[in-house]
Amino acid sequence: MKRLVVLGGGESGVGTAILGKQKGYDVFISDKGKVKEKYKKVLEHFGIDWEDENHTEAKILNADVVMKSPGIPDKVPLVVKLKKIGIPVISEIEFASKYTDATIIGITGSNGKTTTTMLTNHIIKNEGLSVGMAGNIGDSYAKMVAENNFDYYVLEISSFQLDGIMDFKPHIAIITNISPDHLDRYEYKYENYIASKFRIAENQTEDDFLIYDADDKDLVDWLNKHPVKAKLLPFSLREEVVEGAYSLNKNITITTNNETLKMTTDTLALEGKHNLKNTMAASTAAKLIGIRKETIRQSVTNFQGAEHRLEKVLKIHHVEYINDSKATNVNATYYALDSMKTPTVWIVGGVDKGNDYMSLMPFVREKVKAIICLGKDNTKIKEAFGNAVDLLVETYAMDEAIKVAYKIAERGDTVLLSPACASFDLFDNYEDRGNQFKMAVKNL
Ligand code: ADP
Repeated sequence: MKRLVVLGGGESGVGTAILGKQKGYDVFISDKGKVKEKYKKVLEHFGIDWEDENHTEAKILNADVVMKSPGIPDKVPLVVKLKKIGIPVISEIEFASKYTDATIIGITGSNGKTTTTMLTNHIIKNEGLSVGMAGNIGDSYAKMVAENNFDYYVLEISSFQLDGIMDFKPHIAIITNISPDHLDRYEYKYENYIASKFRIAENQTEDDFLIYDADDKDLVDWLNKHPVKAKLLPFSLREEVVEGAYSLNKNITITTNNETLKMTTDTLALEGKHNLKNTMAASTAAKLIGIRKETIRQSVTNFQGAEHRLEKVLKIHHVEYINDSKATNVNATYYALDSMKTPTVWIVGGVDKGNDYMSLMPFVREKVKAIICLGKDNTKIKEAFGNAVDLLVETYAMDEAIKVAYKIAERGDTVLLSPACASFDLFDNYEDRGNQFKMAVKNL
């Protein structure tokens, strides 16, 4: 009997353990932190051996294969040791993909993964096909593979998941875009992070497809230097492409296999240039698997966007309040500010990840009437924009920020929470930050 050791007893760890058990492995889960009650119950139900608040090496170093949860960095001593002994350390997508014949659409990139994943899943569902959505989103992929028999999987895949692959190969890969993020996990080398994202294509063959943002310079430069085997399907807002997707003058044109789909941008459910790109990426994938044009057109019109991503919350006295709490880096905020059509009161700040705010300056000068800082340390934001706006206020709690925003905003304005920073200084996570925003707005 082969031994599978799972490091990390969260969603992906527990899911992998369930699948491993079903496939006849001797399974052991070890978590250095505390395993949540709900997962303990699941493990007990399946009769899976586990420990928490400890890593007992004697029960780990005898593994045939180790699944490491994406939250555990490669440099922790135990992982280093496992690799040194030569035990394969893989990720959930690597492990689970071996046990399904479904067609896999894998979606990675720095921003837009969740939105593109949800939209792709929505289109395939609307066509009436059997599809599972997993990866960095919702329920564990491995658990789904254990318990279902879907024909398609749409997987949101982080770079950390890609770091742990060997044979994983999506039939259709999407790289939404690439901008610096999580560099602390990549020795502060941007090229390591890009390389990690491109691993989504490393096992693809000529029969597979890579859909990517042709307007993204870092991405295209990399692709030129490191060619892939998959058939390339770029999407662009700047120029026509022969195969792939482009959008010019309020039209979208998607061509795959010598067949063209045209749509208008007027009725798209999701606003903003970034979402136009996400829509093109998802629709191209859908078209590749043969989904009818009418289903695609309808689906991109009736899609409900994901929470905390440019989410319209309320209009109060003709002021629109928008929750973009998921904007945890500058690039995401760039697109949020880009899509603002009115004078904007911008709530920004949190844990700075080495941000360079300069790319936002044109938008700030053009549209932002006031900046409300919301973070423990707002020094960099003050330095960057102090002279560019008439009003900059520092706040240290969401209620306070919203009260100030309410006072400043006038009829026709937008109040936008798009922090460009992580949330951990004042909030549990970006969801908590977004929920507090929505609550505070509703209480106005
Ligand atoms: P991810 O799962 O990659 O974090 P999300 O869909 O959750 O992506 O979006 C994260 C943030 O990035 C949100 O603020 C969203 O508005 C913004 N965003 C979405 N798509 C894009 C894109 N294609 N380019 C840049 N920013 C985007």
